[in-house]
Amino acid sequence: MNNKAKQTVNAEELKLINKYARKELTADDVYTFSVVLCDNDADRDFEYFTRDTLVKLAEMYVGVTGIYDHDAKTENQVARIYACKVEDIPEKTTKYGEMYSRLTAKAYIPVCDSSRELIDMLDSGIKKEVSVGCCIGKCECSVCGADMRKNACGHQKGEIYGGDVCLGVLKDPTDAYEWSFIAVPAQRNAGVIKSFYQTNDDSVSREEYTKLKQYTKELEKRADEGERYKSYLRLEVVKSGITARIGIDGKLLESMVKGLNIDELLKLKESFDRKTCEHLPIRPQTYKEENVLSHRANEGFAI
Ligand SMILES: [Zn+2]
Repeated sequence: MNNKAKQTVNAEELKLINKYARKELTADDVYTFSVVLCDNDADRDFEYFTRDTLVKLAEMYVGVTGIYDHDAKTENQVARIYACKVEDIPEKTTKYGEMYSRLTAKAYIPVCDSSRELIDMLDSGIKKEVSVGCCIGKCECSVCGADMRKNACGHQKGEIYGGDVCLGVLKDPTDAYEWSFIAVPAQRNAGVIKSFYQTNDDSVSREEYTKLKQYTKELEKRADEGERYKSYLRLEVVKSGITARIGIDGKLLESMVKGLNIDELLKLKESFDRKTCEHLPIRPQTYKEENVLSHRANEGFAI
């Protein structure tokens, strides 16, 4: 057992820990650590807990055991929360412009052979990320205030309305049933506090967040245009194939070109057009080449 854990457990904490122990534990019997369970910033699902929700969750999380990778088998229940509180960080704001607050828990692990691996990992910072499992009574639309789970207000989480991203506001928690160590948490800031400050630098501002969302939308639009262009090109290839009298039925050709990319479709169309020109000997050689090239130039498309 390393010295750090021994130093952090005081008599008062031991008293809290011993509420859950079958036999009286001493400072040598336990390893304690702090962990950020979640915060009030928007997560990858474009949802966030309000500060009030965090306050309610703080009460609910005391006594709850932490597990590995959402596997609730008894042997995986490795750490228990003995204290939990909301910490306000006034110098930091959330992506939607409110004071940043986080739910910080103190947890202990009984020191024994089976827990040594996890303790070593926590010390080295490897197992540093957590996710929380809780029941939330209401997911409010940040644009219009409707309960997004009960009635469809038409607003989509992650979409932009009047310059702001629509978010789901998580309220009225009814149960906090688990927290677990996982590889990638839904909440980017969740993690053992030690690593929290290290990973904090890459957090994005509200402006960057909105810009990023607009950029993604632009990419989606371009991908959609690319798809529509491909459908059009497929049709052109089939028409060219029929005109070139290649001897393949139009329907069969249509299914044959389905998996081709834009470059392949253009090449195929070019070779069909070449063949068509061979059937039309009245066209001089030079005209044929120009015709094919200018045709391609007109259809050039960058995605
Ligand atoms: Zn709405």
